[in-house]
Parts: sequence; structure tokens; C-alpha cells
Amino acid sequence: MITDLLNWLDESTCNFLAIAAIERELNKAGYNELKMTDSWKIVKGGKYYVKKNDSAIFAISVGKGDFAENGMRIISAHSDSPCFKIKPNAEIYGDGGVVSLNVEKYGGGILYTWFDRPLSISGRIMLKGDDYLHPKTVLVDIKRPVATIPHLAIHFNRGVNEGNTLSVQKDMKPVLGYFSKDEIADMKNRGGAVKSIVANHLGIKPEDILEYELCLYPYEKSGLVGMNKEYFQSARIDDLSMAFAGLEALLCNNGESAATNILAIFDNEETGSGTKQGAASPILKSIIERLAISLDSENGKDTFYKAVANSFMISADDAHAWHPNYNEKYDPTNHPVIGGGPVIKINANCKYMTDSVGAAVFAELCRQAGVRYQYFVNHSDVAGGSTLGNISSSQLDLSGVDMGNAIWAMHSARETAGVSDHEDTVKVFTEFYK
Ligand code: ZN
Repeated sequence: MITDLLNWLDESTCNFLAIAAIERELNKAGYNELKMTDSWKIVKGGKYYVKKNDSAIFAISVGKGDFAENGMRIISAHSDSPCFKIKPNAEIYGDGGVVSLNVEKYGGGILYTWFDRPLSISGRIMLKGDDYLHPKTVLVDIKRPVATIPHLAIHFNRGVNEGNTLSVQKDMKPVLGYFSKDEIADMKNRGGAVKSIVANHLGIKPEDILEYELCLYPYEKSGLVGMNKEYFQSARIDDLSMAFAGLEALLCNNGESAATNILAIFDNEETGSGTKQGAASPILKSIIERLAISLDSENGKDTFYKAVANSFMISADDAHAWHPNYNEKYDPTNHPVIGGGPVIKINANCKYMTDSVGAAVFAELCRQAGVRYQYFVNHSDVAGGSTLGNISSSQLDLSGVDMGNAIWAMHSARETAGVSDHEDTVKVFTEFYK
């Protein structure tokens, strides 16, 4: 089970590739794609998915029961992680033929974890389509270490270990290599190094690339760590580990559930969810409305409201594990540990959707699945983060819970989580979808 997760994490080097991996698994399991541009004919027991922007996906296993009465069991997670996005006209030409890249920070990553690592490039490009409104999308992963962000030597900054402010524009530019004058002239003719790398990889002409959305990703593979291999380390554990836990649970369901099971993977959580593929968009609501209308052509609206009122959402996004070096940062009585099971997230100022109803439902679900659970509450003097749950409930009148697994170094280029926690969460999600 953990090997599957590690392979998925390695394959999902950005939001687009994570969604492509989930789509492939859904296709293998007999799910059919529904397009928002088509008419829908939904049947009970049917398996469908809807993609949005190639970076969000909504898998639906329609229940055998009554849609309105039995409602939906929804698990949500997000496909994006902090990274560096490559700007247009990104090439910066330096002394000795050194070419580096102008990049922008995506989300709130821990910048210095990105130094001195082998980096590769992935994302999507646009090629000419049938007409100008429909460019053709191609996903790309260079899959070899083509860049690195070298740190300044300590001799030029003796105070580096006493705290070092970083500028994304100055300090974080990845270096691609050094090239001869002729190579650089050729590179410029071909539209720059980025388009050349991608075009070479795909066997196309650089001038065919209309636009790109590419990011840098840490090239090292994920792996197990610890005396007893109790931890796993990888990039993008937040939140792909939760997305894949949801997928594993959905795929092992026998399709006999009365309720309709939905796995909703949104994009852009790390930048506030405010895009057409984010949790603040109407996308999930639109999908559920169309399910209701297709299942009940006479009273679709009524069915929609009843189904939503009979539903429950697990908003799954990783939590902060107690760190042995920083006890003072944590709440004295509620600090989840790695290996302690899934974490219920609670916040008095409603940063999370969890209330006592949601917590009680989830705790009972854990008991039913035979899994331990724990709580995360912020240290009262520390402001915490927020996540998908509340943002989704501003679009859909849902009750639910915010939960996640406890991890270290959230938003590092390499995060650490617990093997048994992943297994436990899959058990709980499987129970939820039953
Ligand atoms: Zn997250």
C-alpha cells in the first residue's frame, strides 16, 4: 500500500500530473469521463469523473440508493503544492555562458529547502488547436535533473546560520547549465532554453509551443526513513497523500453503497482556492446540481437540496505533527504525533469546518474502522493555516470535518509523514465510502 503511494507521489510531480495519474487509475477502474459541455445521462451505480483545467478532478460513484435520501459521502483534497513556476521569457544569460531561469514562487514554500538539490521541470504546454479558442494541451515531465539553485558559500555570508532573509527574485533563480556562444545563439533562435528543453523532450518544434505553465520540482525519489521504516519522505505529501488515500478508498469500494461517493480534488489551495478549479469556485456545486437534474428530471432542484442536506464532507489536508525540537510551538494538550492516527482539526475562530457534530461523526467513523485518532488545535498564541473545508461550505451547505495526517516540515521541498497513519486513513476513508 505504501509502495503504491510512493510511486504515485514520484509520478505526480505537479498538479497536472497528479490529476493525470488519478484519471488513469479511474479509467482502469471503469470510470467514464463526463464533460461539462455535454448532456449527462447519469444512472444509479454508474462511475464517472469530471476534470477541470487538467488540475482538478471529481470522481463520482453513484449510489444504489435514493440520491436525495442517501446523499453523498464526499472526500476533498488538493492537487497543488508550493513550488517555483517558470516565468515567460525566463532565460537570464550570465558570465561564462551560464543560463539561469527567472521564476516566481507558487504558494508558501520553505525556500531554503530548495537549495542545492537536483531539480527537474514539469507542467503543461499549449499547442495550436483546431481554432484559437481551443489550444491543444500537452502534459510534460522532463524527468531528468536539468537545474539546481546553488546556495551562496558561507564565506560570503558568515551570519547565514543566524537567520538569512531570502529574496525569490535574487536568491532562488535555478541554473540550467553553461553553453557556448553558438549554443546560446541557437537557443535564442529556438525561443529560449525552456521551450528548447520541452520541445526536445516531446519531439516537437519549439515554435509550436504557444504558452507554458511549468514548474520546478525536486528530482529525488520518495522513500522510507527511520529505524523501523516508520516514516516516508517525499515532496508534495501535502496534500497528495490525502488525495491518494481518497483514491485508494474509492477504488476498493464494491459499488454497492447506498450513498453517492465523491472524491473531489481541487487545485490552488496553496494560493487561497480562488480559481475556477479551486474550492471557492462553483465547480463541485455545478457537478452535483447536474447529477441531481439527470437523476431526477422532474424535481432536480429539490433533489439537489435534499441530497446536499443528507451529505457529509471529509476535507482532508495534512496537519502539523508534534516536533521534538519545538515543543513550545504546540498546544500543550492537543499535539498530534506521527504514528498516532488521523487528526481531527479544530479551531475556535472557524478556520476549519469541524464543529462538535463533524468531530463526533469522524471519531465514530474511526472507531468503526478500528483506527485511533487524535486532535490538532493551535497553540493559543500561534495563528494557524486554513484549508478546503470552510471554503467549500461557502459554496455548498455541507456539514463535515477537517482532518489530515500529522506531518513534519509542511511546505518543505521534502516532507515527512507516517506509514501507519496513511494506512489508517485509507481504512477510515474506506469505511466512510461503504
Ligand atoms: Zn495542504
